[in-house]
Amino acid sequence: MGMVAREGLTGVSVDVDTRAPTGATTAYILGERGAVLVDPAGRSDALDEAVETREVSHLALTHHHRDHTGGVAAYADAYDLTVWARAGRESAFETATGVAPDRSFREGAVLPADEGVTVVETPGHAPEHVAFVTGDVLVTGDLAVTEGSVVVGAPEGDMRAYLTSLRRVHARDPDVLYPSHGPVIEDPRATCRRLIDHRRQREQRVLAAVDGGAETPGTVVDAAYEKDITGVRDLALATVRAHLEKLAVEGRVRWDGERARPG
Ligand SMILES: [Zn+2]
Repeated sequence: MGMVAREGLTGVSVDVDTRAPTGATTAYILGERGAVLVDPAGRSDALDEAVETREVSHLALTHHHRDHTGGVAAYADAYDLTVWARAGRESAFETATGVAPDRSFREGAVLPADEGVTVVETPGHAPEHVAFVTGDVLVTGDLAVTEGSVVVGAPEGDMRAYLTSLRRVHARDPDVLYPSHGPVIEDPRATCRRLIDHRRQREQRVLAAVDGGAETPGTVVDAAYEKDITGVRDLALATVRAHLEKLAVEGRVRWDGERARPG
């Protein structure tokens, strides 16, 4: 995808080792002066140039997955950035990045770039996952993608939280979403609805599989996924576990972490 730029936002694609099909993560710079660098997945000349042009002062992550963190230490050091982490996840941030955060944020916090960058909690894909808002720009990390879906897998992923996060973004009715992987999302509401429907359909299949006698995540995967999942079976297993956890909380299945039974 290369680069996107508009008022208050620059996105620079960084090649990374990721299981996302794009093979790249987009780092974003939000604000004009005193700007916030989000998800520097690695260091590159293009990102250096963007950081210098926007007079970046702050660094924050949508979440700590490895394909978002590779440039944190290098940029924090080279540009003396104030490093922010989700409150309560500071030590996880340090483990993931090798950098101890200077400050922490919570839901609704405003990072002090010139226009202000507001934190919106969007957990589910990862416990600390947040989106960043400035003006009518919403940077959404791994919450949403234009095609396919994102991984929400146990033990880290939380399906109930993920669906709530999609509904929150849907309710904000933004004009456009800037995701970490793949093209800009021009139809945020339709995309949120598609992703919610996708989870509902999978959940129905998981429920039907358990009602039909499937007990282990492996047998549920066999029953609930039709397509060839060679190469991503581990992700399917983690996803099924996340669905089973949600269904158990809702009293629709019984699930002890190893075996599921009809609720
Ligand atoms: Zn991720």
